[in-house]
Amino acid sequence: MTQLTEAEMRGLKSVEARPPREQVGMVQAERPAQAAIEDAYRNVLAFVGEDPNREGLLRTPHRVAESMKFLTRGYDQEVETLLNGAIFHEDYDDMVIVKDIEFFSLCEHHLLPFFGKVHVGYIPNGKIVGLSKIPRLVDMFARRLQVQERLTTQIAEALEEALEPQGVAVVVEGLHLCMLMRGVQKQNASMITSHMMGAFRADRATRAEFMAFTQSGGNR
Ligand SMILES: [Zn+2]
Repeated sequence: MTQLTEAEMRGLKSVEARPPREQVGMVQAERPAQAAIEDAYRNVLAFVGEDPNREGLLRTPHRVAESMKFLTRGYDQEVETLLNGAIFHEDYDDMVIVKDIEFFSLCEHHLLPFFGKVHVGYIPNGKIVGLSKIPRLVDMFARRLQVQERLTTQIAEALEEALEPQGVAVVVEGLHLCMLMRGVQKQNASMITSHMMGAFRADRATRAEFMAFTQSGGNR
């Protein structure tokens, strides 16, 4: 059974998503077989002083390889496919905000997790996107090796390309285990990045309105 989006149920006509601009970090080369990766993780276990043949570790290389595949599954997805059929013509031109979108990613410098929340806003210019697609877009970019700055920009640019809106705003708040666990920073310092385009960049009041919405507490 196909689930209809809200817009489809209201009889809106879907338009094709535009093809994505070249995506940073997409794997072009052939990937090694999983057996080779499991061997590599056995070496890591030995490197840290463990016995890879110890009972509790026997299947660890296999689990880690599987988990790695899952945590980086965003490499197998692309914007065009993800948004296809979910962009609709609509004369709504006020701010649309989706806030507190949870994300989990891996920093590309240490392969350690960073995670937190993403807030997305846009002002349509004739096209809107099915709301559930925005968290999926966030997830697609987060499930790749990332730096928070690029994650922020990629989400904003993907929406800009697909919707050609009056403006896009993306704010990401992240906690980085590579900072917390390695003792670089003892406090629970979160990193905040933002990328503002169009009206959000040009107009201070628009930007302020968005920031006020994202910071208002209470229920999500
Ligand atoms: Zn890191």
